[in-house]
Amino acid sequence: MSLIVQKFGGTSVGDAERIRNVARRVVASQRAGHKVAVIVSAMAGETNALVALAKELGGDAPDPREYDALISIGESKTIALLAMAIQRLGGRARSFTGAQMGMLTDTAHTRARIQSIATERIRQVLDEGGVAVLAGFQGIDEDGNVTTLGRGGSDTSAVAVAAALAADVCEIYTDVDGVYTSDPNLVPAARKLERVSFEEMLEMASLGSKVLQIRAVEFAGKYRVRLRVLSSFEEEGDGTLITFEEDEKMEQAIISGIAFNRDEAKITVMSVPDRPGIAYAILGPIADANIDVDMIIQNASVDGITDFSFTVHRNDYQKALGIAKKVQAHIGAKGVVGDNRVCKVSMVGVGMRSHVGIASQMFRTLAEEGINIEMISTSEIKISVVVDEKYLELAVRVLHKAFGLDQPA
Ligand code: ASP
Ligand code: MG
Repeated sequence: MSLIVQKFGGTSVGDAERIRNVARRVVASQRAGHKVAVIVSAMAGETNALVALAKELGGDAPDPREYDALISIGESKTIALLAMAIQRLGGRARSFTGAQMGMLTDTAHTRARIQSIATERIRQVLDEGGVAVLAGFQGIDEDGNVTTLGRGGSDTSAVAVAAALAADVCEIYTDVDGVYTSDPNLVPAARKLERVSFEEMLEMASLGSKVLQIRAVEFAGKYRVRLRVLSSFEEEGDGTLITFEEDEKMEQAIISGIAFNRDEAKITVMSVPDRPGIAYAILGPIADANIDVDMIIQNASVDGITDFSFTVHRNDYQKALGIAKKVQAHIGAKGVVGDNRVCKVSMVGVGMRSHVGIASQMFRTLAEEGINIEMISTSEIKISVVVDEKYLELAVRVLHKAFGLDQPA
């Protein structure tokens, strides 16, 4: 008998009929001989509606404690409804809020981190042949305040519960049937991957593939939780298994996927005097303003003068540009230019480690389409380029084809 943790997202529990459908799936898994703990999100749109209400009554900066108390309630509603639906099908079920299950977090409201999970009550339900129905997204701090884990946090709840229960697998049911070689909306030829390694999934999650919350992937990697992403709307299909590379016996594809991010902006500080402390002088104030910097490039200097470029999220563009302009005057640089119409395209694959020439093939492919590369960054398993946003679709498609991702593996 295996122990399975199943997580259903907002669209999967979007209305009464869908909740009934989830109940059927859960009961079927249980009748197939598994112990099942289920984590659910709020019904689709619910959390957004609560956020909007909080803004209306609490203004732009509502009290964090009350904010969390409010936006966590969508999940409380879903657990009770799902437990009822399971009972109606003749199954046994018991619902638990974050507080009831002992999901202890730190006190960082709206982005709390899980510290421990008391599993006794969950185990008791499972041992008695019931389904434990657990609220995602919510926790409780030491002082009994309700906390939330950040938007999309139910994925992380599920993985944490799976780790705490030492579950055999954590199944994430969502509105797509797995992880794809690229976004099928942009690349019709994108294929579903049967498996993908944790490292690759981490890169893809951080690069904008929104299948899983990145913290959930990190958590699963750390605690070695086997994850499977599946469709909640299709009965058939094995989804995508997220594996540990060293467990992988099969030959690895060189490239697993092409990820992209539309929300990039680039800032260049021009003719910077090249001396110690310059990178810090520019990026220190950016970090102090809580702005995340992604790529950073400093050119070779000529006559002690260099250009310094970096990218930020588009939402932070104006703020970062303002800061860079202040710094520029201070350090005696010539000027600041920026562009918020750029995007990032990245190729991800653990096979890059053992293959040379991937980067040059990528650059040639882009050159043949006349796509100018504005910035490049690499890691062991990823190559990213910044290009004009008008080339996004073309770049992703030609790379997808050039690296054979449209061909069955
Ligand atoms: N309901 C929360 C949200 O919408 C958490 C989740 O769905 O994972 O962000
Ligand atoms: Mg979600």
